[in-house]
Amino acid sequence: MREIILCKLGETVLKGANRATFESILLRSLRRRAEACGHFHIYLLQSTIYIEPTDDTCDLDGMYERAKRVFGLVRVTRAAECEKNMEAILACAKAYLPPKMAGVRRFRVDAKRSDKSFPLGSPEIAAEVGGALLSANPRLRVDLHQPEAMIRVEVRDRAAYVHAAQEAGAGGLPYGSSGRGLLLLSGGIDSPVAGYLMAKRGLMLDALYFETPPYTGDLAREKVETLADRLCAYVGRLRLHTISLTEIQEALIRTCDEDYFTLLLRRFMMALAERTAREVGCEALVTGESLGQVASQTLGAMAVTGAGAGMPVFRPCIGLDKEEIVAYARRIDTFETSILPYEDCCTVFTPRHPRTRPKPEVFEAELAKLDFDGLCDRAAATRKTETRRN
Ligand code: ATP
Ligand code: MG
Repeated sequence: MREIILCKLGETVLKGANRATFESILLRSLRRRAEACGHFHIYLLQSTIYIEPTDDTCDLDGMYERAKRVFGLVRVTRAAECEKNMEAILACAKAYLPPKMAGVRRFRVDAKRSDKSFPLGSPEIAAEVGGALLSANPRLRVDLHQPEAMIRVEVRDRAAYVHAAQEAGAGGLPYGSSGRGLLLLSGGIDSPVAGYLMAKRGLMLDALYFETPPYTGDLAREKVETLADRLCAYVGRLRLHTISLTEIQEALIRTCDEDYFTLLLRRFMMALAERTAREVGCEALVTGESLGQVASQTLGAMAVTGAGAGMPVFRPCIGLDKEEIVAYARRIDTFETSILPYEDCCTVFTPRHPRTRPKPEVFEAELAKLDFDGLCDRAAATRKTETRRN
C-alpha cells in the first residue's frame, strides 16, 4: 500500500479551449514546489492530479502542506492506493483508515467508480468497506447525515484509492496563468494580502519595496524580506526589487508644501513602480490600498496619486475593512510580521495635516517644483534585486 496525494482542479476545468494551458501551468507549479520534497511523479488524469512519491525518501507531509498552497486546486487529499479488486480495497481500508479515524464514532463511506468495468457498483463498494470497518471496530456507527468522518473509495483507471479527509485547496487560478504584475510591498498589513489575493487569481508577482536609507533601517528591510518569504509559501519564488527614495523624500521636504508630502511621494512611487514593471516584464501594478483607510487613500487622494498610471492598477483590498484584511493576513501568516514596529518610508516625514481632499492643481503645481524625471531616473538607478524562495 502506498500513500499518495490526490488534487482536484478548481476553475481550471471551466476554461474550455484554454484548459490545456491552465493545466500545464498548474502541473509546472506543483512540480516546482515538489522539488524540495524529493522525487514525485506528478500527472493529471480524469480532472485529478496525482502526486506519487517515487521512493522512501520523499517527504509526503511536506508535499501535502505545499500542495494545499498551490493555486488552482480546490481539494487536496491524502489517499492510500491499492489494486482494483475488493479484497485489496478492504485490506487497504482496514490498514489505512483506523489511525485516521481516531476518536471518530459516526462515519459514512462514499464510493465512486469511474472504471465502469469494475464488477461492483458504487453502493456495493461502499457497503462492503463500511461493513469491514464496522466489524473491525464495534464502537463505530454508520451515520449518513452527520458523519464525523467521510470515507471515500475511488475506483479509477489505474488503481483504487481510499481516503478519509479531504481538505480545501488554495483555490483560485494556476499561478502565472493571468500574466505578471508588480506588487508594491511595504512592511504593512495590507500589501502582502493584496499580493496573495492577486496571486490567487493567477497573477505572477514581482515585488517592489521602497526604502529610505538611512531613515529606514535593516530591520525594516528584513521585515519586508520575511513578508516576501511568506508569500513564497504560495508562489514558490519571488523577485524582490528595492529602490531608494531618499533623494526624492529629501527634495520633497526642502521644496514642497508639507501637507502634500505623502501624496507627492505616492505619485513618485507609482511612477517608479510602473517603470520598474516595464523593465522587469510586468504588465500591471498591485497595491494594498483600501478606500478611505488613511488620508492618502481617499477618493480624492487616489485620483491624484494614481493619475497617469499607464497600466492596470489592481487594488484587491480596496473594498475590504481592516478586520477583513487582518483575517487574511492571519490566514497567510503575515500578520505577526506586519505588525512589527519598524519605520516605513511613508512614516518617515509624515505631514502633520495630510490632505484628504487635495486640490489637483495645487498638487500638480507642487510636483512641478521638482525635477520629476531626473529624480525618477536617479531613484530607478538605485534598484537592487534579489530572489526569495520557499
Ligand atoms: P500597508 O499596510 O500595505 O503598508 P498602508 O496602510 O501602510 O499599507 P500606505 O502607506 O498608504 O498604506 O500604502 C498604500 C500602498 O502603497 C501599500 O499597500 C503598498 O502597496 C504601497 N506602499 C506603501 N509604502 C510602500 C513601500 N515602502 N514600498 C512599497 N510599496 C509601498
Ligand atoms: Mg494600509
